[in-house]
Amino acid sequence: MICPVCKYDMIVVEYHDIELDYCNRCKGVWFDSGELELLLESRGLEEPKAFLDGILNSQEAASSEKKRDCPICGHKMKKTAIGRQSEILIDICRDKHGLWFDGGELSQLIRHLAGEHPPKHDSREQVISFLEEVFEAPQ
Ligand SMILES: [Zn+2]
Ligand SMILES: [Zn+2]
Repeated sequence: MICPVCKYDMIVVEYHDIELDYCNRCKGVWFDSGELELLLESRGLEEPKAFLDGILNSQEAASSEKKRDCPICGHKMKKTAIGRQSEILIDICRDKHGLWFDGGELSQLIRHLAGEHPPKHDSREQVISFLEEVFEAPQ
């Protein structure tokens, strides 16, 4: 799969049976919708489908950031702002093929999830630690 930002081949990162596409150059990460659902499910998140749909169906954010093409269908993706102050801008395929995180956005999301869902939400903690393991440990 080709990175929507720098157009180079991405590498497939496999971790606990979940596959992600990762760009070595810009550090961006692509999640297929199915893979993200699988990840949420494997980490014990309740109603992973609803959680995912909430992200996929969120409104388009006004942004001057360049639109990116979905690496699967090639169509322009929509920008969606997540986070408490809508500070994280991710790209989502309108046909729900998946989500794109620019380099750095994923760790922002991790911090956001960690802040918004304190440790009593055990399952979300697990998702956070999964993401941390995959993306923060190697650096
Ligand atoms: Zn890239
Ligand atoms: Zn697409």
